[in-house]
Amino acid sequence: MDKNFQEEQFTGIIKFTPPLYKQRYQFIKDLVGKYKPKKVADLGCADCTLLQMLKFCSSIEVLAGLDICTSVMKENMHRLSPLPGDYLQPAERPLTVTLHQGSVAHKDPCMLGFDLVTCIELIEHLEQSELMKFPEVVFGFMAPRIVVISTPNFEFNALLPNKALFRHPDHKFEWNQAQFQSWALETARRYDYSVEFTGVGHPPTGMENVGFCTQIGVFVRKYSQTCESAQSEKPTEAVYKMVFRAVYPSLKDEKYLKNAVVSEVIFTAQNIKRSLLDRLMAEHEEYNNDPVERKFQFQPSMNRFSEDLGKLVVEKSMEPFVHGNVVYIPLTTIFSFPKVNRLCGTFEKLCKLIAGKVTLSSDGSAVMFNTELENEEN
Ligand code: SAM
Repeated sequence: MDKNFQEEQFTGIIKFTPPLYKQRYQFIKDLVGKYKPKKVADLGCADCTLLQMLKFCSSIEVLAGLDICTSVMKENMHRLSPLPGDYLQPAERPLTVTLHQGSVAHKDPCMLGFDLVTCIELIEHLEQSELMKFPEVVFGFMAPRIVVISTPNFEFNALLPNKALFRHPDHKFEWNQAQFQSWALETARRYDYSVEFTGVGHPPTGMENVGFCTQIGVFVRKYSQTCESAQSEKPTEAVYKMVFRAVYPSLKDEKYLKNAVVSEVIFTAQNIKRSLLDRLMAEHEEYNNDPVERKFQFQPSMNRFSEDLGKLVVEKSMEPFVHGNVVYIPLTTIFSFPKVNRLCGTFEKLCKLIAGKVTLSSDGSAVMFNTELENEEN
């Protein structure tokens, strides 16, 4: 739980800072930070607020939302789409976000293979018949590594300003701590999970036995299961309706990787060229200003950029050099820059990705810039 959340003295009016729903989302974010799941499903995702937060968690590659109500999901689902910046600077990890219309009382193969399943303030909205089927669907069929279930703690209601029996008119029930824990323990036992109880929304000082305002059970699967076996052993007909799908641009996609590598290679080569030309210019000025330097220092330096040095390309030297009006930046030099190196992994991959997109020397070992052409363009 976020240590920054404040506990307040009980004044007769409970006010949570940050609001309780944000504390619930933060709880999930912290859990994602701890377990680093790749595939996360949010059941009863409503207006997708939690999903919008989770799409920024770098471990997550697949994010799915499920709700029985299409219209509530559609309210803000556009926020789950990639932004222009995502295309300009594609992330390293792939990310696919989907939304499905359906009930947690029904099994659908699209919900298989998840690492983490969240059910935030969902179960109290289920009819008795749905609640009966819910454990088999989530723990038996989906069987993710971790399930988080949050639900109101009925004992806390007496401390809330709203004096209605339940906190929301659509709640079919609200459990006290003993009721939730006995349901959770029995579910965990039946499906071979362990469960730990916690919550958000601390009770006032001196009233700790009331428990958290939102009670939370974190279930962890005790047995290991491979993705393949989980999917192949569970043939089921698709019953959910997909209402949204977004595939984010990622460097795992060769198309985006190619663009990123070409831009980075040109950017790096331009920087090397600029510092080389600046250095040459400085040496040239030094030579003109100082007759002694002219005699002893400029000659060797000139040698490095004389015609003889054309051979360096053939010898795959790391040194950039100028030959006539052309600046040569060896690919080996460019590959040694961390960002290029990380993007490509191998020198062969670098050569493959920039082929046909960057002007290279005849033997393909160096990026070429014609300074004369560039001057004309400027
Ligand atoms: N999880 C969201 C959050 O924390 O912000 C909101 C939960 S909202 C209180 C409960 C949601 O559960 C509603 O959006 C409702 O449509 C959905 N729901 C109710 N019964 C459902 C069912 N059988 N299957 C899937 N979703 C259901």
